Amino acid sequence: MNLYSGVSELKGVGYKRADLFKKMGISTVYDLLTFFPRDYEDWSRIYSIKDAPTDVNVCVKAYVGSAVRKNYIRNNLTVYKLDATDGESVMDISFFNNKYAASALENGTEYVFFGKVTTFGRSFRSMTNPVFVKAELTELSPLKPVYAQVAGLNSHQIEKTVKAAIESCNDFPDCIPESVRNAYCLMSFEEAVKNIHFPRSSDLLNEARRRFVFEELFVLQVGLMRLKTKHRKMTSNVIRTDYTGEFVSGLPYKLTNAQVRCMDDCRRDMSCGVPMNRLIQGDVGSGKTVVSAAAVYNCVKNGFQAALMAPTEVLAQQHFKTFSGLFSGSGINTALLIGSTSAKEKKAIKEKLKNGEIDFLIGTHALIQKDVEFSNLGLTVTDEQHRFGVNQRFLLNSKGNNPHILIMSATPIPRTLSFLVYGDLDLSLLDEMPAGRVKTETYLIPDSIRERAYGYVKKHLVEGRQGYIICPLVEDESEEYSDTVASKKLFEELSDGFFKGFRLGLLYGSMKPAEKKSVMDSFAAGDIDLLISTTVVEVGVDVPNAVIIVIENAERFGLAQLHQLRGRVGRGKYKSTCILVSADTNPQTNERLNIIVKNSDGFKIADEDYRLRGPGDIFGSRQHGLPSLRCANLAIDSEVIKETHIAAENLMKNNPSLEGVEYDLLKKNVNYMFSKGITLN
Ligand code: ADP
Ligand code: MG
Repeated sequence: MNLYSGVSELKGVGYKRADLFKKMGISTVYDLLTFFPRDYEDWSRIYSIKDAPTDVNVCVKAYVGSAVRKNYIRNNLTVYKLDATDGESVMDISFFNNKYAASALENGTEYVFFGKVTTFGRSFRSMTNPVFVKAELTELSPLKPVYAQVAGLNSHQIEKTVKAAIESCNDFPDCIPESVRNAYCLMSFEEAVKNIHFPRSSDLLNEARRRFVFEELFVLQVGLMRLKTKHRKMTSNVIRTDYTGEFVSGLPYKLTNAQVRCMDDCRRDMSCGVPMNRLIQGDVGSGKTVVSAAAVYNCVKNGFQAALMAPTEVLAQQHFKTFSGLFSGSGINTALLIGSTSAKEKKAIKEKLKNGEIDFLIGTHALIQKDVEFSNLGLTVTDEQHRFGVNQRFLLNSKGNNPHILIMSATPIPRTLSFLVYGDLDLSLLDEMPAGRVKTETYLIPDSIRERAYGYVKKHLVEGRQGYIICPLVEDESEEYSDTVASKKLFEELSDGFFKGFRLGLLYGSMKPAEKKSVMDSFAAGDIDLLISTTVVEVGVDVPNAVIIVIENAERFGLAQLHQLRGRVGRGKYKSTCILVSADTNPQTNERLNIIVKNSDGFKIADEDYRLRGPGDIFGSRQHGLPSLRCANLAIDSEVIKETHIAAENLMKNNPSLEGVEYDLLKKNVNYMFSKGITLN
């Protein structure tokens, strides 16, 4: 019998039981052996009858010292009783209506009984319906597996079937190549299977677990690396002449080394005949826009069209302004298409796009509508990609013939997780800030001295600078509008109170787009001194004269979000300040908020956040289309993610198509994993 035999071939598995297993997703021996216990009972702590604590599950070792006695209580209730002794005391063992269990116990043999001990009077002790194992066997496996059960199939039955499978299977091929196993001191598949089900010690159990976590993450990463190469068909969109130098020479500033490197990555990708599939990840303000501009410039100068999609109208408009500036005098014809573009203009844009008069189109979701057609789309750029679904990106890309794809994101993902989240994308990191930025000072203050913080804000406003106050997220019945309510209330309080005489503005999510735009425009023009806002300013707002931001109820925000909010200041030549206000004195909250106070690097913050809270935030709100994981826990297995990344990379570098019989099983397992569920939990 081998791993791929059906479970129905196992001893004790008839049609009915095979059916129950099937319901649990188990059809082969392999499925069964990789159905891991959800917990273990510790059978290593063994009590004497006298010392056993009562009313909790414990193990008691004792000899059976009598034959079974049958007590008929009433209709449908029969008790089977035995005596057991450890040489010092006697314990009564009872089974209700379970003749089979009782008769399985042999008189004169020593067993370990697992169950609750109850006492009656001073010395009488008993155990009802215990689980039991011959004492000599428990020494081999002091930790007993507990399996998730389904109706009709309990943990004990599953355990027995697993045992039968391990005994009758005579070949345990390993999908992890031996070289990798040796390099990372991993248990073989056979050893690991035996120890995950019937651990001989807790150390061996941990080793077995480590091996399966490794295996799962290794298979996942090999799969992702294969995806990366496989889905890339050849493209005719090839950059033959490099215009990067020409573009850069017109810039008013010197590029950072990181920007030069990223531009180089893009140029290389776009000239090799296979479509680019690249993510630029860079902190707020690291200068992603100009990198994408170089790619667009190169593409258009080589005769292709390009498109850029942004998540909000405000951001699309800002990009249109920026790109028009960067491309002025270049002959590149740039257009803007957003929801509020007039019908007449839309029509004209679509026509010019189709006949190739427009080289570069910037817009929002409006770009992915059906009737938007390009004549020769060679590059798509998506800004702030986490705001778009996979589907929307796909729709944009399908408007070209295998276009190059460039994605920009400021959402810092901890480095270790980015291997998984962006597994099928190539990654360029913009990990360097343009020169001359002044670091924003950040303070965490208690609620009680808020007035002082407001006083500090006032001082800046008097000097002609501008500021933000970000409103708390308040949880109340009207969830959806709660931050709206809070921001309105604060706006009224402050307009008539502390900031009387200053020009205050109010911004919140449910305002009409035109109202929002008008408030933002006034703020940008300096006609508003202090903007009371909800988190809508999080993305895309760029007002260099704003130098101070107060964030109320800071503990309610995620670290990534706080970092984004802080990024609204410190964008110009003035020294800026961020004040986090929190009434929460919990030490954990304090530790979390202090991460923001102490760090200005978004990646560092993401790493710290991950260390404290795990990946919840990152994976909770978004879909990544990754296979589901059963063993690995992304919150605690980050070391293994790193190890497996290196191991998979080494393997794939030397043997990208996994040539050779020794890799057959690995390939098989990769395909198996990727053929199944599509959520990461
Ligand atoms: P983000 O990465 O957040 O999208 P942007 O591309 O909007 O950042 O750049 C932020 C600001 O920095 C812009 O005003 C841009 O003109 C400026 N900038 C970009 N690169 C440099 C550089 N190398 N030196 C100086 N300023 C730069
Ligand atoms: Mg940006």
